[in-house]
This record gives sequence, C-alpha cells and structure tokens, in this order.
Amino acid sequence: MRSDPAEFELVAPASLPKALSLLTENPGAWLPIAGGTDVMVQFAAGKLPARKLMSIWNLPELRHIEILPNEIRIGAGCTYTDLRQNEIIAREFPLLARAASWVGGIANQNRGTLGGNIVNASPAADSLPALLAYDAELVLVSVRGERRIGYRNFHTDYKKTQLSADELVRAVCLPRKYSEYVSYTRKVGTRNAQAISKVCVAALGRLDNGAIADVRIAMGSVAPIPIRLAGTEKILNGRRVDASLLLLARKTAAAEIRPIDDIRSTARYRTAVANNLVAEFLAQLGASGKRDRE
Ligand SMILES: Cc1cc2nc3c(=O)[nH]c(=O)nc-3n(C[C@H](O)[C@H](O)[C@H](O)COP(=O)(O)OP(=O)(O)OC[C@H]3O[C@@H](n4cnc5c(N)ncnc54)[C@H](O)[C@@H]3O)c2cc1C
Repeated sequence: MRSDPAEFELVAPASLPKALSLLTENPGAWLPIAGGTDVMVQFAAGKLPARKLMSIWNLPELRHIEILPNEIRIGAGCTYTDLRQNEIIAREFPLLARAASWVGGIANQNRGTLGGNIVNASPAADSLPALLAYDAELVLVSVRGERRIGYRNFHTDYKKTQLSADELVRAVCLPRKYSEYVSYTRKVGTRNAQAISKVCVAALGRLDNGAIADVRIAMGSVAPIPIRLAGTEKILNGRRVDASLLLLARKTAAAEIRPIDDIRSTARYRTAVANNLVAEFLAQLGASGKRDRE
C-alpha cells in the first residue's frame, strides 16, 4: 500500500550544523534522507515508520572527496557516480570503484550515496565488502563533535549499527596503502545490472618471495552483516598458493560463513559460490607471483 504524502513532513536544513541541531533537539524523530533510493522504496510500500524526513542531499559538507597524503576522505553524501568519476578512487581503490559501477542502474548511481548504503545496513550492500577489505574508518558527527570508528565495528547485527540517534555519517576514510595489492572483486547475482547480489566478494592480497604476506577477504550476502573471513585469512598468511592451500581455503571459508536460504538464493548455492570465489581469488594472487618472477 502506498504512503500518503500528506502524512509526512519534509525539511531540508541549509547546513550540517543546522541538520545536527534538529537531530539533537528531538533524537530519533527525524529520519535523514540522502538519495532516498532505500527510503523511498519503503515509502512507496507504505512501510516507512518515520513521519518526519530530513533531507541531507544538498549538504555540501557531505559531498566532498578530500585527498590527503595518507588517506582519502569520501563525504558520506557522495553518490556512486561521484565515486566512479574520481581518478584516485579508480586508481587506488578499484574494489570500491567496481562496486559503485554495479549498484543498480545509472539513475540509481546518480542518486544513491555511500552513506546511505552503509546506514541502510543490508548484508547484500555492494560497497560494504570493499570498505571492509580496505579497513575503512567512518567519521560520525553530532553537535557533540566528531568520532571516528573502524567500519568493521559499525554493523553489530542484522540492520543494527553503532550510529546514535543524534549522529550522521559524515565521511568514509580509506588508507592509501593498498594500491600495490592484487585486488579481486565479484558480484554474483541474477543479472549484471539491477540485481541484488547472491554473494559478493572484495579481496586484496600481496605476495612476498612467493608466499602470501597479507590477505584480506570480505564478503556480502553470506551472514547477517558483511564479514571479513578472518579464519581463512589466518590460514593463508605465510603460505604459498598451491592446490592443497586452495582446498584448505575452501573448507575454512565454508566453515566461517553463515548464509541463509531466501528469495534470492539458497545457503547451499551461496556456500558453493563463496568457495569458488575464494579459490579464484587465490589462483589470481598466486599467478601474480609467477608473472613477477618471469
Ligand atoms: C532500483 C534499485 C536498485 C538498487 N540496487 C542496488 C544494488 O545493486 N546494490 C546495492 O548495494 N544497493 C542497491 N540499491 C539500494 C540503494 O540504492 C543503496 O543502498 C544506496 O546506497 C542508498 O543510498 P541513499 O542515499 O539513496 O540512501 P537513503 O535511502 O537516502 O537512506 C538510506 C538509509 O540511510 C540513512 N542515511 C543516509 N545517509 C546518511 C548519513 N550520511 N548519515 C546517517 N544516516 C544516513 C537514512 O536515514 C536511511 O535510513 C538499490 C535501490 C533501488 C531502488
């Protein structure tokens, strides 16, 4: 059932301080709306619990990409199109650039924001495995000031986050130290465009003298929140990529994901795909070492 617009109030504060004051005056009363590509789906379905909407779409403070020597700071209000058009993101953060390129369709990429993807907290959200792999930190802001937390601690359970009622996500910070890593990302869905993933993976790896010196594997749609495969990473570090390692990695990955059956896929299919993606990534990582020696 569609919602009745007459029952809703919409305000659009002109600056970040004004938006934060509103959130503080009445915590929990105002629902921030950025691109609206998640909120308006709920609205259209008559399932939006909030009646007071606060647009943050036009806040310039959230729409800025700052390039610092050691990190890139991406405003939470940046759209997927903003991410796709940024040269540093394309060059140094290909996992995020690729994720931005396969969210929805072009209209969705012009409107949907990185902050909205994070706070909407879907386990299938496309940008989140990349943020885990890159060890992203989030800048949260309220009238009390800013606090910075590791993205890996932000989602605590299905659709649950560390965001307080008076806070906004201001920015996402990515350290500029992974550009020499082999990067691998895949989204497996029903189609390439306009499809929610059945499994998505973002992984980074680096070899030293033929052995794995550092590896980071993150997945979406295989647990209540996007996860790093910490157990699999642990058994891989220090080892050479060979057939026995691929087998061990498959087994370890299967044991640490918690996929479910739902309308998009089955736990069995998700497990098989997740294992194949881990193996494909490792094969590419191993092959990069052979190329370097040639
Ligand atoms: C047709 C269609 C296709 C889609 N395809 C994909 C897909 O392929 N992959 C994918 O991952 N997603 C997809 N989505 C979901 C959606 O586009 C993304 O999650 C998008 O990033 C949401 O951003 P937004 O700015 O539109 O969020 P909004 O709808 O504005 O907000 C979403 C939630 O985040 C909160 N929020 C937003 N910004 C902030 C902030 N800065 N601080 C605090 N809270 C905030 C809002 O209060 C709300 O709870 C699709 C949606 C549609 C309609």
